[in-house]
Amino acid sequence: VNFDLGEETDLLRKEVRDFIAQHVTPELLERVHRTGTWHDKEFALALGRRGWVAPGWSVEEGGEGRSWLEQLVIREEFDRVDAPVSGMSVTMLVANTIRKWGTPAIKAEILPKVVRGEIVMVLGYSEADSGSDVAAARTSAERRGEEWVINGEKMFTTHAQVADYVFLLARTSAEAPKRKSLTMFLVPMTAPGVDLAPVRTLGGERTNITTFTDVAVPDSQRVGDIDGAWAVLGSALEFERASTWAPALDRLVDAALHVSGTPAADGDGWDFTDPTSRGRIAHVVAEAEVSRLLALRAGWLASQGLSTLAEGPMAKLYSTEALTRCSADLLDLAGADGLRAAEPGDHTGAGILEHAYRHSQVTTIYGGTSEIQRSIIAERGLGLPRSRTA
Ligand SMILES: Cc1cc2nc3c(=O)[nH]c(=O)nc-3n(C[C@H](O)[C@H](O)[C@H](O)COP(=O)(O)OP(=O)(O)OC[C@H]3O[C@@H](n4cnc5c(N)ncnc54)[C@H](O)[C@@H]3O)c2cc1C
Repeated sequence: VNFDLGEETDLLRKEVRDFIAQHVTPELLERVHRTGTWHDKEFALALGRRGWVAPGWSVEEGGEGRSWLEQLVIREEFDRVDAPVSGMSVTMLVANTIRKWGTPAIKAEILPKVVRGEIVMVLGYSEADSGSDVAAARTSAERRGEEWVINGEKMFTTHAQVADYVFLLARTSAEAPKRKSLTMFLVPMTAPGVDLAPVRTLGGERTNITTFTDVAVPDSQRVGDIDGAWAVLGSALEFERASTWAPALDRLVDAALHVSGTPAADGDGWDFTDPTSRGRIAHVVAEAEVSRLLALRAGWLASQGLSTLAEGPMAKLYSTEALTRCSADLLDLAGADGLRAAEPGDHTGAGILEHAYRHSQVTTIYGGTSEIQRSIIAERGLGLPRSRTA
């Protein structure tokens, strides 16, 4: 097996690094960390102009027709420097789902704006009592003529504060079994009756509670069949679960090496003649490599039109748990310096370790918790019986 990604990929990597040098300024990173909003309008528009919001889409659709590997490289470079691409990544989860399930009218209205970086779409699945068991959602949509009237509350609607639309899971029938009575809607955040309240997380990321009070949306905003959300959600979740945190592990290594080259607050540096310290950083490099290879496998399967139902969760599960383990270990290795929060403008130092440790916790929760990923791997990968209720 040849793991060399080739000269063209190296050139692309350089192009992305040049773009980052120009657009991902210390001021931008400082603002993102201060507000907890990993999205920036100007940066998204610049990505759109460069063709990197949806690089895998065809040129006619506004993309660059990039291969899955090239898309992975672009994403890897942005993630490695913690560029604010999260809002656009979530938007792309919705956009790819609309591309598969939307009507021609909704595709024509939404997708060109996505590819230009002009709009943000967010996920409105989870509720206070239905996260892992997403099909237990209670937010309702009632048909009234050509409209639907939505009432309910969603928990953890990340990026809603900058969103144009929420991709909402709503119950449309009281009688049918729980998975056969849900429908997806693309609800404008400006619709009367939509409200939100901020929720700050341990990792500094802002998320939201969103409420829907008699929100009227036309039937044309429905995505997929009435009571057909389970099929739509299935592909949306498959896109979401095939994610990797390998670049965040690379960033940990970068930070550890940077810190090691800088005298510590008490005047001492890390002792790299000590085999234990060297070994602990080398261990993170190995964890990053395993995480990357799992992502490459899931990416290759998807590119062949094959299912990633078990391999996507493996990449997500392994890389998020590795990030949690490794950030804890390097924080410990950095000693007192590791507890220092990042200073404004310091995006390579010990503050990275402290932030990574806090942020890593949530990576094992969103997009499906580790327990749920394990359960899916057992069912889909090993053919074991379902552990969760249908
Ligand atoms: C920062 C953040 C951002 C988020 N952003 C979004 C977003 O933008 N949109 C959105 O819709 N959601 C979002 N979520 C919600 C996220 O998807 C859920 O938190 C997650 O699915 C877990 O659901 P829960 O919080 O209700 O926990 P629960 O489902 O109540 O789980 C509690 C615990 O029980 C375990 N558990 C539950 N069921 C099982 C089972 N069957 N087998 C074994 N163990 C089980 C879980 O693993 C967990 O440890 C976000 C969450 C966070 C924390």
